[in-house]
Amino acid sequence: MCLAIREPSVREYGFELALCGALEDSERLLARQLGAHVHGRRIADIVAIDPGPEFDQRAAITDETIPPAAIDAPVGPGQARPLRDVLPDRRPDERHRIADRAVEIGFFESERRNGDRYVRQVARYPDAWFDRLLGIENKPDLGRPGDLQTQLRIDVSLGLFDEVILATASHVTGAHRNRLPEAVGIWRFDPDTGEREVLKEPTSLPTDEWGLELIEREAGQAAVRPVDPAAKARARRRLAERAYGKGWRTFTWPACARCDPDGAEPAATVPYCTYHDRIVNPVEDCGESCPGYESADPPAVDVEAVRDSRSPWVRDPAGRQRRQVGLDRFE
Ligand code: SF4
Repeated sequence: MCLAIREPSVREYGFELALCGALEDSERLLARQLGAHVHGRRIADIVAIDPGPEFDQRAAITDETIPPAAIDAPVGPGQARPLRDVLPDRRPDERHRIADRAVEIGFFESERRNGDRYVRQVARYPDAWFDRLLGIENKPDLGRPGDLQTQLRIDVSLGLFDEVILATASHVTGAHRNRLPEAVGIWRFDPDTGEREVLKEPTSLPTDEWGLELIEREAGQAAVRPVDPAAKARARRRLAERAYGKGWRTFTWPACARCDPDGAEPAATVPYCTYHDRIVNPVEDCGESCPGYESADPPAVDVEAVRDSRSPWVRDPAGRQRRQVGLDRFE
């Protein structure tokens, strides 16, 4: 008789939100579903960021993502420069679009001189605002691994994250471990209780050295591209900026009376459904075809206030002024 260990049937969406809720605290920024690549198309499930020594300076600029092109542009806070010199490789409409966005979120100031547009940074960009980046791949059911091995190989080989973790609800066997890259850490997480057990610590990856990026291709083909340390540093900053602006509560609330944002255990302000007794994916699970659907206004949740109170992210930082931009707008 074969005694197989029965794997839990855990829905990935609810697992991911429950894990984010359990990890969220004042010391760590979290975001979901972010591009974690240089040339490829790798999307990380969860990105966790440890703030660095200049975090407060970054938080004081804006609560949104600062466009990478504006950060990379050779202009500081001291002296305004002509926009065409700041973004020389961009088409004029692109230049203005990037500058408009940077002005709108409070990172650039802009003025006209003799018909030319000049820009400067409102504040120096604080490169040391983040410290370590943690990439978490969720695979609640290891009986259905999908592309897990390839995804983790991509992460470890590229080295964009300081550490890479596999999070699962499954019992983890020696065979499972042997199939994972050695550097990957393993967590076992129970989405119902919020309990997390560290089964294996991750090994730190060399983020400031050359990496090899496996490019996923159609039909099982793969190519490898080397990535130099400067490109990795830019990609890490882009990832961190996206995470800062995006966060992890990116869902919309269902217009159903059965949705209780604080019904999940541990309470994490997520789309918890009292009819199905679990976290649901509003896009896939909710609507009139659901047997438990009960028409109502969506829950009145101020998601930004929740994020501000439960994480280092600062909503609408003091001193920041939204500026209107463009031809029919003002700066
Ligand atoms: S529509 Fe269905 S799944 Fe969505 S909250 Fe209502 S009862 Fe739950």
